[in-house]
Amino acid sequence: MSSPNAEGESPGGQYQSYLRQGAIHLQRCRACTGPVIFPPRTLCPRCGSTKLEWAPISGKGTVYSATVIHQRPERGGDYSIALVDLAEGARMLSSVRGMPAGDVAIGIAVRAIIESLDPASYIVRFEKEPATDEIS
Ligand SMILES: [Zn+2]
Repeated sequence: MSSPNAEGESPGGQYQSYLRQGAIHLQRCRACTGPVIFPPRTLCPRCGSTKLEWAPISGKGTVYSATVIHQRPERGGDYSIALVDLAEGARMLSSVRGMPAGDVAIGIAVRAIIESLDPASYIVRFEKEPATDEIS
């Protein structure tokens, strides 16, 4: 199904390619089958294997910690920096949008969204999961 490094791209470049296509893929190790790996790497951080393959993630996550960064309104206002634990096991440093920075609390359910900073770089941010959503 997946073709790891088929184009000789760096792991970070491949991650960006998936984001550009509107999909979040992270690596899994076929040798030790641990949780997903983030940030993208060439070697498995657990066992050192190069047998890493890309797989889509659900995008579901939980805020592990959050900090408010205060910024003047003319520079965009306050925003949050959050560590998010993905359902698949990796932890991402990102931010949570669509709610006041001070309301981003530990333990809230979030889902990943892809944002384009410019045509060449994409990042994953999070927004609060609607309360009606069922977490399985
Ligand atoms: Zn491994």
